[in-house]
Amino acid sequence: MTIPTRTLNDGNEIPAIGFGTYPLKGDEGYQAVRSALDHGYRLLDSAVNYQNEAEVGRAARDWLEDNGVDRDELTIQTKLPGRHHDYHLAIASVEESLERLGLQRIDVLLIHWPNPITNKYRDAWRALVDLRASGVVRTIGVSNFTAQHLADIVESSGETPAINQIELHPYFIQEQMRAEHHQRGILTQSWSPLGKANAPFAERPVGDAAKAHDVTPAQVILRWQVQLGNVPLPKSGTPERQAENLDVFSFELSEAEMSAISGLTREDGRLFGGDPNTHEEM
Ligand code: NDP
Repeated sequence: MTIPTRTLNDGNEIPAIGFGTYPLKGDEGYQAVRSALDHGYRLLDSAVNYQNEAEVGRAARDWLEDNGVDRDELTIQTKLPGRHHDYHLAIASVEESLERLGLQRIDVLLIHWPNPITNKYRDAWRALVDLRASGVVRTIGVSNFTAQHLADIVESSGETPAINQIELHPYFIQEQMRAEHHQRGILTQSWSPLGKANAPFAERPVGDAAKAHDVTPAQVILRWQVQLGNVPLPKSGTPERQAENLDVFSFELSEAEMSAISGLTREDGRLFGGDPNTHEEM
């Protein structure tokens, strides 16, 4: 299956859907990533804090070699942890990530959380800008940044991130952040795109659309994500579900179906209270 791509504000392209790798680790993680690549995923989302960069990197390298595929066909994405926000620690952290991944280049590097209590995300961003200039990182972005955090790094560096990866699912549709991204030319990636354990599979707008298009509730939600302009990063350890989650480009939701699903959003729709203004993740 060929996946459409999205063009970022730095001119690079990434696949319109990616594979979430948390909490896949060890041999199970290796097999899950290989299976995802076999099914057609070309964007892998890892992080230092997932403790799976080695497995993700090895699975990607082995898959490329076994299939004779060019390295540039894959977009490998990882994230800088909060404890490495200091400029020099950030540079060293990325060197370690490259080592663990076994790669010469990281395609997308994101700051995992802003950790505003520590208040060092501007330093971390400066490191990412320099890492991109040195060529070891192709695209730089952030994750879990609010409009204020985005304004702070753009103002301090003159550089706009290409991506902000945020919690986004039908119970938490992030209308304001999507508008903010649109205005700044930032691509929205959705984490927990299905809603994880709290997936709204049984909600009526999701079930009705699934019936109407003869697809599964998960496919409806991922299609909703794609039509909103987001790049969703569904995780599944199950090969059948991996394939199912990728197969969302052959049907289209109507405007009414889209707004009914968006209507499921709630004020308190976050999965675990991960408010970026207060959540600390080191
Ligand atoms: P998801 O919304 O992707 O949900 C994953 C869960 O849904 C798993 O339990 C999976 O089970 C199940 N599932 C997957 N596909 C289907 C399907 N077709 N039908 C039924 N159930 C399904 O949530 P995650 O929290 O895993 O988020 C995805 C990714 O987002 C993570 O892997 C990570 O890469 C990223 N992330 C980033 C964060 C950040 O701070 N930047 C925070 C959290 C996540 P099974 O595996 O058994 O199929």
